[in-house]
Amino acid sequence: MLEKTDKINKKMRIAKDISYLATCPKAHVGCYIEDKYGKSVSMGYNGAPAGFEHCDVAGCQEIDGHCTNAVHSEINGILNGEIERMRDGTMYLHGAFPCYRCAQAIVTVKFKYLYCTETFQDIALNDLTDDQSRSLDIILSGELSINSL
Ligand SMILES: [Zn+2]
Ligand SMILES: [Zn+2]
Repeated sequence: MLEKTDKINKKMRIAKDISYLATCPKAHVGCYIEDKYGKSVSMGYNGAPAGFEHCDVAGCQEIDGHCTNAVHSEINGILNGEIERMRDGTMYLHGAFPCYRCAQAIVTVKFKYLYCTETFQDIALNDLTDDQSRSLDIILSGELSINSL
């Protein structure tokens, strides 16, 4: 039987593989989502909205160094699956720490765990989860030795 950390590392590797599908050259980010029982629910990567040309074809539309053309992987992951099944579930995120908009969506879905390869660069999610009534455990790479992926 796999150690818990080994399982988490393998799931983070799935998120990394998904990130290769991203179509915005500014950022390759991927997420893999499971329900509270560990069954897969969804996945997402950053790319243009449905029906729009992707950044790798049409080019990025940058404002302040950020591409505004691509829908972020976390939002796509949430949109791609059954949201009810995500409640108390887990998001494995590779390639970025959630921005404020994604953090709002993650908190709204009521995930229980967020595993993230990026170091804690933005306090937005921390602020949003600083309330005892919202229990989201944010687990960063350093605590799980996922850096080696
Ligand atoms: Zn882009
Ligand atoms: Zn985002």
